[in-house]
Amino acid sequence: MCTRMRALLCVKAQQLLSRGFIHPVRPSTAVRWQAAPSKLFCSSPPDGNNTPPSMLRHLTSKIKATGPIPVAEYMREVLTNPVKGYYVRNNMLGPEGDFITSPEISQIFGELIGVWIISEWMGAGQPKQLQLVELGPGKGSLASDVLRVFSQLQSVLGGASVSLHLVEVSPALSLLQAQNLTGNRSQEADAEDDPVYRRGETDAGLPVSWYHQLDDVPTGFSVFVAHEFFDALPIHKFQRTEKGWREVLVDIDPEKPDTLRFVVAPAPTLASTSLVQADETRDHVEVSAEGGVIVQQLARRIIEDGGAALIIDYGHNGTKTDTFRGFKGHQLHDVLASPGSADLTADVDFNYLRRMAGGGVACLGPVTQRTFLKNMGIDTRMQVLLRNCSDPSTRKQLISSYNMLTNPAKMGERFHFFSLLHPSRLAKPQKPEGLKLEKKKSPAPLPVAGFTELKFA
Ligand code: SAH
Repeated sequence: MCTRMRALLCVKAQQLLSRGFIHPVRPSTAVRWQAAPSKLFCSSPPDGNNTPPSMLRHLTSKIKATGPIPVAEYMREVLTNPVKGYYVRNNMLGPEGDFITSPEISQIFGELIGVWIISEWMGAGQPKQLQLVELGPGKGSLASDVLRVFSQLQSVLGGASVSLHLVEVSPALSLLQAQNLTGNRSQEADAEDDPVYRRGETDAGLPVSWYHQLDDVPTGFSVFVAHEFFDALPIHKFQRTEKGWREVLVDIDPEKPDTLRFVVAPAPTLASTSLVQADETRDHVEVSAEGGVIVQQLARRIIEDGGAALIIDYGHNGTKTDTFRGFKGHQLHDVLASPGSADLTADVDFNYLRRMAGGGVACLGPVTQRTFLKNMGIDTRMQVLLRNCSDPSTRKQLISSYNMLTNPAKMGERFHFFSLLHPSRLAKPQKPEGLKLEKKKSPAPLPVAGFTELKFA
């Protein structure tokens, strides 16, 4: 990238961070969260069980028919069963829901990710096409905040043709996203061979498309964002035994027919022989094969079409053991109790994701949310918002949201940012061979914002 463009981005990013937006505080940022061990929950009635009881029946008949099922199959059914899955219901992020996430807590979160995306688009040489692809967009707040930044930085994006692609398994949530991002300018796509199940247009006329899976998203230069998506993907659980690694399965308790319990498979399963590393030192491991496949798809796309992926989640570097847990109305919830009524989640193993990404892409991070947001200039942005805001309760809310996102004891160190980049993004330009006159040093690649401090020119 030429120095002029680099300076331009820095100036523009600085302008973005230091000027007030038309709506300095997104109206929907009413704070209704409360700290919980790893997800942050809004107040919903603890006894508000509005899940059809048939999820338990569905699982017990499945187990009776086929025998105990892998934890991954249990999690997939409970979360994304097309009829009864937890995510198919639309209230987990709403006022009646179970938890709230960073993009819902503060608009600044999505705004800084918007700046990051533009910075990576510039780092890639400003391709003519920019696909923003979000995996698991929830209520669509993150995408909406990113798009607001895009329109503020229209002059930087120039003539690039921008489109938004949402990978969402929940029809109910896709309707909520459509409402938030397009108002009433979206409709169901009904052609049978069309991988898009809904399409629409934002206020600014940007096309938005919805897909059931990543594979359906068209190829082309893309920046992928996944916030609290990988933690919702099914995990396999494995236990070290005297006879070697065995998979943990879900079975019916023989003494209580309406109760589920964990059992250890008596013999190796395909998963236990293929998913546990030969040199594994822990006694219990969780592997999200589905997460691994998605990262492989992301890596392949980035290598072939250019672009980047930003994965944001709670997780570890292959060190934790038993992190599978359920959440319901502010509280930790037994993962096997009243399935379908509570969120199920497991920490993301970033080491595993890095291994699955392979050597063809560059991986950065994970760095903590606090580090990433500070490197992206969250403090400057906060100062501007506070300077332009005189209402005491809004100021109080801004400060407490900032604290929630960055405080090491809250989300600041629990959440991590991990990125996949095209290898050329970090490569030093080759010196032309045979040219002895070259005295100037070849330009270093533009640092990747967030992972290193954003310096203003
Ligand atoms: N990113 C949002 C929502 C996180 S909740 C936020 O941070 O606020 C997880 C999201 O992923 C929901 O939108 C859920 O419906 C979606 N989801 C879960 N499993 C999925 C899958 N297998 N494929 C596509 N979307 C999925």
